[in-house]
Amino acid sequence: MGVSLSDAKSAELYVRAVQRLPGGVNSPVRAMRAIGRDPLFIDRAEGAEIVDVDGNRYVDFVCSWGPLIHGHAHPEILEAVHTAAARGTTFGAPTQGEVELAEEVARRIPSVQMLRMTSSGTEAAMSAVRLARAATGREKLLKFAGAYHGHLDGLLTDAGSGLATAAMPSSPGVPAAATATTIVIPWNDGEAVVAACARHDFAALLAEPYPANMGLVPPHEGFLELLRNQATANGALLVFDEVITGFRVGPGGAQERSGIAPDLTVMGKVVGGGLPAAAYGGSIELMNHVAPAGDVYQAGTLSGNPLAIAAGLQTLRMLDEQAYLRLGAITEAMAAGLHDAAASAGVPVQVAWVPGLFTVFFSTVPVHDYAGARACDTEAHAAWCRALLARGVYPPASQFEAWFPSLAHTPEHLDRALEAAAAAFADVA
Ligand SMILES: *Cc1c(COP(=O)(O)O)cnc(C)c1O
Repeated sequence: MGVSLSDAKSAELYVRAVQRLPGGVNSPVRAMRAIGRDPLFIDRAEGAEIVDVDGNRYVDFVCSWGPLIHGHAHPEILEAVHTAAARGTTFGAPTQGEVELAEEVARRIPSVQMLRMTSSGTEAAMSAVRLARAATGREKLLKFAGAYHGHLDGLLTDAGSGLATAAMPSSPGVPAAATATTIVIPWNDGEAVVAACARHDFAALLAEPYPANMGLVPPHEGFLELLRNQATANGALLVFDEVITGFRVGPGGAQERSGIAPDLTVMGKVVGGGLPAAAYGGSIELMNHVAPAGDVYQAGTLSGNPLAIAAGLQTLRMLDEQAYLRLGAITEAMAAGLHDAAASAGVPVQVAWVPGLFTVFFSTVPVHDYAGARACDTEAHAAWCRALLARGVYPPASQFEAWFPSLAHTPEHLDRALEAAAAAFADVA
């Protein structure tokens, strides 16, 4: 079998961490339980490489789960943050940077004429839902099984419970009343969309246009168009959660790639450049419902924080057409290389990818929805991830996540990663 990882210092920290932090972490997937090991504590990172407290160096394909499209500690982003910090870290008053960021987003995403910044994607999704309900005077939401829109109560529901019944909360502590107005249906199931829309008056149809929180499961041809048409016919708003896809799969996100424009867009991750920032936006008419222009209340002490704005602006400014072509090529090379390495080792996998994102599903058949993702061999996936870590590659530690290649991944990083991946596939074969 393969090599093993020396992780004595991580193990020591973990013992202390679990005394003071639930599960030893501040966000669950970091605990690495889905791949059957304890977390690695990170000391530092630069470019595409991350170093743990034991000095192990990895090619990083998590990149903080999406924000770091230019890799870690990019000098120009650091400089922008340093410069901003020296002028004061927060004012609770408007700044020029916020105007510039809103203008830059609007330039890239025509459906976002106006936006409101928040500190997290969860907050942005929650606020978009509030706005959709206020603007339509309706309460019901349509959501897809396996889609993640942050941890707001009303959307913390996955279990595909059919059209007739309201969704069940997927966490204790979420009141049944909070999900009673949420209808959950399978992704890529056009008939289910049509049937749900025939039956309910929705405030919003919510979708990750390229869902990446059940692993990456791209939409079937015509599916986003069907969502657009059904939303319009229903009188619902179409809300695209582009927290992952925004500014990653192309300059204007999934809506630009697909040519399907939503009514509201939720953004996060890349837009904050690695600092806490997110946003929701849409037409001027819709966004003018938000206080103080309108009466839909929503606020935040650190919203539009100058450091996050500086990081986000610098991140977006470095994302030209050329950068997206390069990120697409990096993604394609990894996806093809992993596919071939698995085939050589005789491990059945399906590699799903769009520029900037991919997932290696341990499945013999293509994955179209959450049920397909859940049918994957998660044990084999876990063993493969542990083998990758031991061989110097840091993968997302769950079958239900996407890999996040960055512009800092050089051909040499890809070679290293693919060599390790081939050996790791051989380990699990
Ligand atoms: C990460 C994510 C969120 C939540 O963003 P946070 O900043 O973690 O609250 C919402 N939607 C999608 C699609 C995400 O990937």
